[in-house]
Amino acid sequence: MGQRLNLSFATALTFAAFLSACSTGVEKPYFRTEGVATPVSNCSVDPQSLGRAEPVADFTDPSGCGARRAYRVYDVSGISFSQPALIRCELADTLAEWIAGTVQPRAKAIYGQKIASFKVVASYSCRPRNGKSGAKLSEHGMANAIDIAGFTLQDGREINVERDWYSGPADNRTFLRAIRSEACGPFHTVLGPGADIEHRDHFHLDLQRERGGGPYCR
Ligand SMILES: [Zn+2]
Repeated sequence: MGQRLNLSFATALTFAAFLSACSTGVEKPYFRTEGVATPVSNCSVDPQSLGRAEPVADFTDPSGCGARRAYRVYDVSGISFSQPALIRCELADTLAEWIAGTVQPRAKAIYGQKIASFKVVASYSCRPRNGKSGAKLSEHGMANAIDIAGFTLQDGREINVERDWYSGPADNRTFLRAIRSEACGPFHTVLGPGADIEHRDHFHLDLQRERGGGPYCR
């Protein structure tokens, strides 16, 4: 069985190589970068004053990805991350604002306790939007976005975006809806369950500002 699977895999690889060899010689871009500019960071607060964070040297990738004034962030305002997030300083600052203004007050009101950690499932990632080849470069490719799939309360209870958004306990549904709707504004793009299939299991928060106009929240 294993051998058969390996053979199928090898066949798929050969077929993929054949397809790319058959192209016109111009590689289809993995993502588009027209109109995409690495955001200028104008941090009002150093993420190191918000929690454990390490500065990351500015970097650019020939493909168009990169980040300026990014940090590897382990926790913000007393909330630890399930994995370190590589994000721009402004995104860390906005997370702190959201945590203080919305996440913790809502958690205290609904659960009588605070949130202890975020389940971070993505931060910097050099890829197209929604992982679709040929789409525009994702804000993740500029360390300008973070994906959060769940929240853990101080008593260890977990609030899971995918599980609880539609069919979780009423307090979880209320909490998730409140913090998502109040993220819209401080964050310029807020996506989650119901937006599209890619966002069924997490909240995507970013600071995309090039579009102009108001925030985009779905
Ligand atoms: Zn995302």
